[in-house]
Amino acid sequence: MKVLLAVPPGIEKLELYRVLGLKAPPLGLAWIAAVLERAGHKVRIIDSPTEGIDLKTFINEVKAWNPDVVGLTALTPTIYKAYEAAKAIKEYDKDLPVIMGGPHVTFMYEEALSNNVDVVVRGEGEYTTLELINTMEKVGFEPEHFKQIRGLVFKLGDQVIRTPDRPPIRNLDELPWPARHLLPMDKYTLFNKPIKFIHVMASRGCPYGCTFCSTSYFWGRMIRYRSAKDVADEIEDAVNKYKTNIIVFTDDEFTLGKRFVYEFLRELDERKLDINFSCGSRVDTIDKEMMLALKSHGCTALYFGVESASQDTINRIGKKISLERAVKVFQWAKEVKIDHVGSFVLGFPWETIDDMKATVKFAIKLNPTYAQFTVATPYPGTPLYYEALSNNLIEDWNWEHYTTLRAVMRGFKFTKEQAQKMLSWAYVHYYGRLSFLIHELVHGRFGTIMSAIKNSLVPWFMEHLLRGSGE
Ligand code: SF4
Repeated sequence: MKVLLAVPPGIEKLELYRVLGLKAPPLGLAWIAAVLERAGHKVRIIDSPTEGIDLKTFINEVKAWNPDVVGLTALTPTIYKAYEAAKAIKEYDKDLPVIMGGPHVTFMYEEALSNNVDVVVRGEGEYTTLELINTMEKVGFEPEHFKQIRGLVFKLGDQVIRTPDRPPIRNLDELPWPARHLLPMDKYTLFNKPIKFIHVMASRGCPYGCTFCSTSYFWGRMIRYRSAKDVADEIEDAVNKYKTNIIVFTDDEFTLGKRFVYEFLRELDERKLDINFSCGSRVDTIDKEMMLALKSHGCTALYFGVESASQDTINRIGKKISLERAVKVFQWAKEVKIDHVGSFVLGFPWETIDDMKATVKFAIKLNPTYAQFTVATPYPGTPLYYEALSNNLIEDWNWEHYTTLRAVMRGFKFTKEQAQKMLSWAYVHYYGRLSFLIHELVHGRFGTIMSAIKNSLVPWFMEHLLRGSGE
């Protein structure tokens, strides 16, 4: 089968991508592509925003390549663009099957089926997509035959058929590495800078199930690691092919598996692999010794979700960390001299404005290299979504606004607009500190941070401050 997989056109215009100047490789599509290629299918990936492909050009590419099936991926804020692409595909050829996967449609599959999507692939997509394509190759687009495939939703006549969940892939090493050869690897950017880097995912899932985060609900409420050898093999291969040693681990909680971490560092030693990497961590799964070990093997930055200054809120969202531990770990990071990013969420339903201010003040006390503030966003499929829904808190149903940079719900004691203002207040208070600006100047990053602020953040803040003041 000829399978065209695509990131839909137009998402580069969305707020999230404009603000961050972000073009990141679609690792999920590349993994599915690798599994399909291994099974003998002919696959092409179009990463539309990265390749500068608009909807018209995309459809011309579809016509020219003439695939048997098109697969689209989308997140909640990019879902309308994916539906637009699906509609345009159907206008070109109503019989060309459109399949869609990703966290949004995994939970909002009926919405997808009413928007020109023929089949939704729920959750981990590799084997579900492979079985679907193999079945279509044998019998054509015959939904009756899709009933045996776990992890799908499709229509049979007027009936919506949701097949049972597919169990998670136990041994991730059995997957081939993502098909990076199908991606425009030299075109990815951050803050609009063409930085050559390789995204790698060493694990999937998370056991914590925090109420605002879709990781546990999409990948499963447990963590599955690849072997350290397989990850190191992939990195070695990619470093040689793409001539960069910058690795970004996309894992949410890279340091959760202590044994994996030390085995991976041993693999780097044995291969004399000189890389720079950053990874996500938790304050309760790392100690100073691990930080030192990571740093000495090229780790330049650690990302920690602290989320709140209130232990009660941390307990309510299921994060299962303590504030004392966060203080200790951020102190270690400073002693070890490793860049560390703290993530903080404002606007959980039960919070007050003072609670949000306390979180910003706590961030300033922790003083990470960079702080990321977001507003609590009820992503479909998360417990926060169901809580917000049942309490009628959601005021903005435009999925494009579900970026965590824009408030879409009110709380019990604050309005949506107040949550939005608090987000701007947080950034201004954190990054407006003289001590922070001097630190950036001393470390030679003042230019970079100022141009990022000038190019992206300031216009965005201004826009939102103006909106917040009713203009
Ligand atoms: S926020 Fe982190 S710890 Fe919580 S569920 Fe998501 S990935 Fe897991």
